[in-house]
Amino acid sequence: MTLDQFEARAREFLESRCSRRGPVATEWGSGEERLALFHETTDEQERAEAEAALAWQRERWAAGFGWITGPVEHGGAGLSAEHDRRYREIEAEFDVPDMAPLRIGLGTVSHALLAAGTPEQIATHAVPLHRGEAVACQLFSEPEAGSDLAGVRTRGVRDGDTWRVDGQKVWTSNATFADIGLALIRTDPDAPKHRGLSMFLVPMNTPGIEVRPLRQMTGGASFCEVFLSDVRLDDALRLGEPGSGWKVATSALAGERRAVGDRSHEMNARAMALLATLAQRTGRADDPAVRDAWVSLHSRLQIARFQQQRMQATDERTLTGAERAIDKVLLAANYKLIGDLAAELLGPAFVADTGEWGTFNWNRWLMGSMGYRIAGGTEEILKTMLAERVLGLPREPQEMKR
Ligand SMILES: Cc1cc2nc3c(=O)[nH]c(=O)nc-3n(C[C@H](O)[C@H](O)[C@H](O)COP(=O)(O)OP(=O)(O)OC[C@H]3O[C@@H](n4cnc5c(N)ncnc54)[C@H](O)[C@@H]3O)c2cc1C
Repeated sequence: MTLDQFEARAREFLESRCSRRGPVATEWGSGEERLALFHETTDEQERAEAEAALAWQRERWAAGFGWITGPVEHGGAGLSAEHDRRYREIEAEFDVPDMAPLRIGLGTVSHALLAAGTPEQIATHAVPLHRGEAVACQLFSEPEAGSDLAGVRTRGVRDGDTWRVDGQKVWTSNATFADIGLALIRTDPDAPKHRGLSMFLVPMNTPGIEVRPLRQMTGGASFCEVFLSDVRLDDALRLGEPGSGWKVATSALAGERRAVGDRSHEMNARAMALLATLAQRTGRADDPAVRDAWVSLHSRLQIARFQQQRMQATDERTLTGAERAIDKVLLAANYKLIGDLAAELLGPAFVADTGEWGTFNWNRWLMGSMGYRIAGGTEEILKTMLAERVLGLPREPQEMKR
């Protein structure tokens, strides 16, 4: 199907189901402030949002837009990444539920299943994610293994056709309502670190799994600790060969970085419009330091946008991972600089709530930007990767690595 035919079908579907989104309010004092970079909701709201996202995903699936790049034999449309991108662009014009609760499943976990799963595993675990029947989470990070992900200690010991798993995961988004988790587990403690890992699909209702939400400095609790005690997993839940967990994790993380970088442009444009008004309202619009910061930020945002467009125009199969790392580093740095400028303009009103619209809540933007610098690979790790593998700079001394 040509892109034009596809676009016409997508528009027809969306127009028949949803209303168009009104312009995002950039006018001072009107509408929701929407300055939080991370969703801060109660557990109940989070579940309701997940339900709404699942219902919309079911509609997408029924209309043939549920898995645009997915294999035809599994119910996907078998179309290109460009078709997928075009669909997301068109859908953004319409008032549809926030799909954030499904992003890990549709991006990271589905990606890993396609890369390493058997046809049966794809049918059993990836297809329900795209049909809007299940939510997934990613059980990778641990207290002692974040940047050094290959250092995971959660142990899996084979016992006939099952594995006994014990350990702890942390920072798991969606864990309170996920149906399935993609878990990186150490199955051979004697093998070199990267080769002793295996990947598993963990039904989150398996006995022995305990999920504890973590309270963040922003007040929300959008991710969790997950404790696994004597959890029994069938060998059919192993994704890829024993010992191939690192390879599967790498393909999953490529999907994650793509999902992180995709959706920032509109938010940043609105933030810049609000900052310009804020500068006028605080009497700082003529301050050379403020003007300098604003223009520099504007240029950085344009560069990030062009980089993103260049990446999106590149054939998915030729992307090396570096493009997504650049995208993510630029995105996170720009979020922080926007928050810094708001703090500069607001002074004490940044930390003390005066009740005035569009002021105090900027601190939620700045605090949220810290999360973006960490999630999906920290800035330091990505910069080291780019320095060594793209710029060809001398490698980091090994003794510095844990
Ligand atoms: C919003 C959010 C959502 C997340 N969701 C999930 C999820 O769903 N599932 C999941 O598994 N994980 C998730 N994470 C966890 C995330 O992947 C980790 O936080 C991240 O990999 C960093 O690990 P860490 O927190 O252990 O920090 P550490 O690895 O301890 O790093 C601490 C600091 O040291 C620096 N550092 C570490 N090693 C080096 C080095 N060799 N060179 C230079 N600097 C170094 C890091 O860059 C960082 O600044 C999430 C995190 C966030 C913020």
